[in-house]
Amino acid sequence: MKPIAAIFPLLTAEPRRVVITTHQKPDPDAMGSSLGLYHFLTGLGHTVTVVSPTNWPSFLNWMPGCNKVIDFEYRRQEAEAVLKQAEWLFCLDFNTLSRTKQMAPVIEAMSCVKILIDHHQQPEEAAFTYGISDVTKSSTSEMVYDFIVNSGHRNSVNLAMAECLYAGVIGDTGSFRFAAATGSVHTMVAHLKETGFNHTQVHENIYDNFLENRLRFIGMALLHRMEIMYEYNTALIAITKNDLLKFDIKTGDTEGLVNYPLTIQGIKLAAIVIDRDEERKWSFRSKGEFDTNTFARTYFNGGGHYNASGGKSSDSLEKTVQKFKQSIKENASLLQ
Ligand code: 5GP
Ligand code: MN
Repeated sequence: MKPIAAIFPLLTAEPRRVVITTHQKPDPDAMGSSLGLYHFLTGLGHTVTVVSPTNWPSFLNWMPGCNKVIDFEYRRQEAEAVLKQAEWLFCLDFNTLSRTKQMAPVIEAMSCVKILIDHHQQPEEAAFTYGISDVTKSSTSEMVYDFIVNSGHRNSVNLAMAECLYAGVIGDTGSFRFAAATGSVHTMVAHLKETGFNHTQVHENIYDNFLENRLRFIGMALLHRMEIMYEYNTALIAITKNDLLKFDIKTGDTEGLVNYPLTIQGIKLAAIVIDRDEERKWSFRSKGEFDTNTFARTYFNGGGHYNASGGKSSDSLEKTVQKFKQSIKENASLLQ
C-alpha cells in the first residue's frame, strides 16, 4: 500500500469515475466520511457514486447526498455497473474486505486503483493500492478532513461536508467523550463551524429521531435480557429473533444499546448479541484496559478498536452465548 499522499497530485490531474464504499450497515462515521468525501471529490469535477454494501439506519437519511447512495443488496445490478466502470475505489471505515459482505468478492475481483482510509486495527494492506490506516484517529471522518486539508483543499470545505464529517466524529467519539477526541478534533470542528452548519440539528437528526417502539424495546432489553456477571465485571445482553419481530426493530434501532451496561459501576466489558437472520452479530465495548479487538478476533471472527469491536457467529444464540461465557472465564485475569 503506497502512502495516501501519493494520490494527492492525481486529484486535480483529470476527472475520474470514482466509487466510494464503506462497511455493511453503515454507522454515522461510515456514512458521514463517505458522503463528506463524495462532496469533496464531486467538487473537484470527478464523477462519484457512493455504494453501501447493505441498507443503513434511517437516522442517516438527512445527510446531504444520502438519497443518491446505492444499496448493493437492494440495487445490485446498478451497483455492479458503477463498480465495473470505476477507475478509483475508495474504501472507508473498514480495513478487511469481508466487512462489505456480499460485495467482498466483487471488490476483490476489481483491478482498479483501491484507496484505503481507515482507523481500525490490523488492516489488510495488501488489498489496497494507496492508503492510510491510523488507529489514533477519532474517526474516518476526521481522516477525510485531513485528506482534504493535506491535499491542499482546506478552502473547499463547505456546509454539506461539514454536516457529514461532524456527524461521523460525534458518532465515533461518543460526542467528544472518548480519548480519541484530541485537540486536533476540536480544532477541526472549529473550522467546520465556519461553514455555518447547525451542530445541534445534527445531534437531533441522529439521536432524537426514533419511534416509540425503540425506546420500549430498550426498556424490555435492560429489564429482561441483560445479565450481569459481577465476578467478571461483565454484562451481556442477548436479543432473540422474536424480540426483533415483536418490537418491529429496524437497522440502527439496536445501536447504542451495548453502552448502557457500561454505566454500571465496576463493569469493564459490555457485550450484546443479536440473533439476525443470517448470523448472530456481536458488539463489544470496554472501559479501560480490556482489549475488545483481540477478544473479538480470538473468539468471534471479528475486530475493531481497543474499546469497541464487533464480531459474528454462525452458532445458535444459545450456543454463542455459552461460548461468550466460556471466553470471559478464560479472560478472568484481565477482567477482575
Ligand atoms: P459495532 O459494535 O458498533 O457494530 O462496531 C464496533 C466497531 O467494531 C466498529 O468500528 C466496527 O467497524 C467494528 N466491527 C463491528 N463488527 C465487526 C466485525 O464483524 N469484524 C470487524 N473486523 N470489525 C467489526
Ligand atoms: Mn469509524
